[in-house]
Amino acid sequence: MNTITAIATDTSPDVMKALLDRQRASFLKEGPPSIDTRIDRIDRVIALLVDHKDAIAAALSEDFGSRSVEASLLLDVFTCVGSLKYAKAHLAEWLKPEQHEALFPDAVAEVVYQPKGVVGILSPWNFPYQLALAPLAGILAAGNRAMIKPSEVTPASAALMAELIAGAFDETEIAVVQGGPSAGTAFTSLAFDHLIFTGGTAVAHHVMRAAADNLTPLTLELGGKSPVIVGRSADLADAARRVMTVKTLNAGQICLAPDHVYVPEESVEAFAGHAVAAVGAMYPALQENPDYTSIVNARHLARIEGLIDDARAKGARIVEINPAAENFSQQSAHRMPPTLILDPTEEMRVLQEEIFGPVLPVVPYRDIADVIDRINARPRPLALYYFSQDQQEEARVLDNTTSGGVTVNDCMSHVTAEGLPFGGVGHSGMGAYHGKFGFLAFSHPRAVYHQSRMVEAEYMMRPPYGDAMRGFLAAAICK
Ligand code: NAD
Repeated sequence: MNTITAIATDTSPDVMKALLDRQRASFLKEGPPSIDTRIDRIDRVIALLVDHKDAIAAALSEDFGSRSVEASLLLDVFTCVGSLKYAKAHLAEWLKPEQHEALFPDAVAEVVYQPKGVVGILSPWNFPYQLALAPLAGILAAGNRAMIKPSEVTPASAALMAELIAGAFDETEIAVVQGGPSAGTAFTSLAFDHLIFTGGTAVAHHVMRAAADNLTPLTLELGGKSPVIVGRSADLADAARRVMTVKTLNAGQICLAPDHVYVPEESVEAFAGHAVAAVGAMYPALQENPDYTSIVNARHLARIEGLIDDARAKGARIVEINPAAENFSQQSAHRMPPTLILDPTEEMRVLQEEIFGPVLPVVPYRDIADVIDRINARPRPLALYYFSQDQQEEARVLDNTTSGGVTVNDCMSHVTAEGLPFGGVGHSGMGAYHGKFGFLAFSHPRAVYHQSRMVEAEYMMRPPYGDAMRGFLAAAICK
């Protein structure tokens, strides 16, 4: 143990490849791990999260400039522990071979779930622990080894992760390698048995091209613009409160954050008023408030401010929600006030690019059919949120749109049900994990057939074909 620390900072492709070779050799030598071994590995991940939760929250806060400790414990630690415990509880049931019908009564046809081998995890900065370690639930349950490349944007969290993993695992079980995009490029060029990438759609193109060279199976967990629809029958104050809760969580730096909201045109001002009140109730002040998280760095702050400036220049009304009227031009922690963009138009970048920050365009609509058309005209989102009491309209919206997942009358809650698949569709991703879907994503469903002892089974395909075969075919090929 602890041998990986020296390797982890070296991002050279050769070093990574040698590590992959050692993991694969160890995997092949061990064969499919027993249930006890899988549970032991899952338990060791749980233990490192539980034992070091405060250090993890501190590292996250250091990386972000300031990050709510409770939000870190909830969204980076608790989420992982929950996924890992769920996998532990269901592992034996998932591993059972699945029996299927066979042509002959005494033949056995079954699916046996095999580990794929070594899985690469390439993860982003917004939830550095959740998105690097929660996939381990399915990966370890399925019996695999793992190599993790966390984001360079959160280096303290990545360095701590490398240290904690090296302290709990042999490098051939789980290893962390560190570095930026060039390390990412080297990482994706490795011939993993499966690669899960969580990150932006732009980088996903590079990842998929690199994976194609080795025909590496891929899970892509991407982002995009997840819309909210507030129906006419919705409780406006409740909808605004719930939307702003998730829009301000991690300062909106969440792949599942509500990106923009469609509101009936006659309710836009009232919705904005409720949103302002909701933020004020959650955050009486922002700058020194330990519950409010910073934008991760100056580059991302400038990016988000650029979206607001662009919208302002193109005629939008900007509602900065700054409950204690603080001066944000003087601060060093790159926090920004939640901001509503009213009267946005399609020409504005804020309606074109993923926002990934506490900025919410409020888009007025007259007819729900137009909202459905506008959603369908865009790349398919990771999530769709719909607020209403009108079940007919709900069915119309859900039946006529596609997204990775849906939450009705709240935002993001579908991700809390571990049994549901978590993943996108189209530009928001490919494949899914969480619960059994994670186990399946990282397993090879091997078809295993034990032949019947019946004489017909042996002679069925063998010439010379005679009347018996012709009779069988005449009877079998029918409508
Ligand atoms: P990113 O795509 O910039 O980086 C993700 C990882 O890829 C990092 O580890 C990075 O070092 C690496 N990387 C960068 N360039 C690379 C390249 N050319 N080749 C290989 N690897 C490379 O993403 P980010 O900025 O860290 O995260 C934000 C994005 O992630 C947002 O779009 C967000 O929606 C998305 N996201 C999705 C989910 C999800 O589960 N669907 C969760 C969180 C974030």
